[in-house]
Amino acid sequence: MQTSIFSVDVEDWFHILDDPSVPTIDQWATLPSHVEKNFSRLLDIFSEENVQVTCFFLGWVAERFPHLVKEAAARGHEVASHGYGHRLVYEQSRGDFHDDVRRARLLLEDISGGKVVGYRAPGFSTTGETPWFFDALAEAGYQYDSSVFPAERGHGGIPQARREPHRIGDSGTLLEVPITVADLLGRPMCFFGGGYLRLFPYWLIRRMALQVLSEGRPVVFYIHPREIDPDHPRLPMSRKRQFKSYVNLDTTEAKVRRVLQDFPVTTFKNVLSSYPQLADTHVA
Ligand SMILES: [Zn+2]
Repeated sequence: MQTSIFSVDVEDWFHILDDPSVPTIDQWATLPSHVEKNFSRLLDIFSEENVQVTCFFLGWVAERFPHLVKEAAARGHEVASHGYGHRLVYEQSRGDFHDDVRRARLLLEDISGGKVVGYRAPGFSTTGETPWFFDALAEAGYQYDSSVFPAERGHGGIPQARREPHRIGDSGTLLEVPITVADLLGRPMCFFGGGYLRLFPYWLIRRMALQVLSEGRPVVFYIHPREIDPDHPRLPMSRKRQFKSYVNLDTTEAKVRRVLQDFPVTTFKNVLSSYPQLADTHVA
């Protein structure tokens, strides 16, 4: 079976986007953090299942808990970047975005002692409104991106985008690995991360993953540390947002284990270096 990708967006329970109840960055340090406990738990699961994954660290989290970055690197996981301040791409200027992602890369390289080449945007928030996104990322020193959501979505999405890994942008150096979508009843949907992974039954996730693999694409799985923590504090959001954010927190760890047992997975870096269509591209 073709190898897929497993990834973690390493952030805390209060790093939810685009809701009036979400605390601002100057309030984050005053809140009770759960990321240390939850990410350590995920690292133990990965060790027990004997897999290496890609960890997209939020710079703000890495700065406060540098030992989490060091521990991930020591266990053979890929350290990658989720930016510094968790702001939606389309709410930033090109200059502000460049500064945010460059700051995060330098910080993560300083802590991990290794090169950081991968990025994922908060909320997959690159859209048709941010055509400068890929070139700004390449200029900030990144070699691949996994932020494009090739279907309709709350925070944007680019429905017409290509689904397989491909080169993108004017630099010629940046690779895009979109979030995985698959067609169910003619509609492109994601089954492999976040609220989708928590909501859908495992048999459906497995069936859709096999469909993607049969089409010759790797599946990109993703999770947040808060999603295996039924006891984290809740934000006073609308009923709909509460459902999306908090459904099935108590069954997700078991689902993650089944994914890791049923599908061979590794890091973005490993998959990109072996991807046939990109064979002449080198991910350092
Ligand atoms: Zn995030």
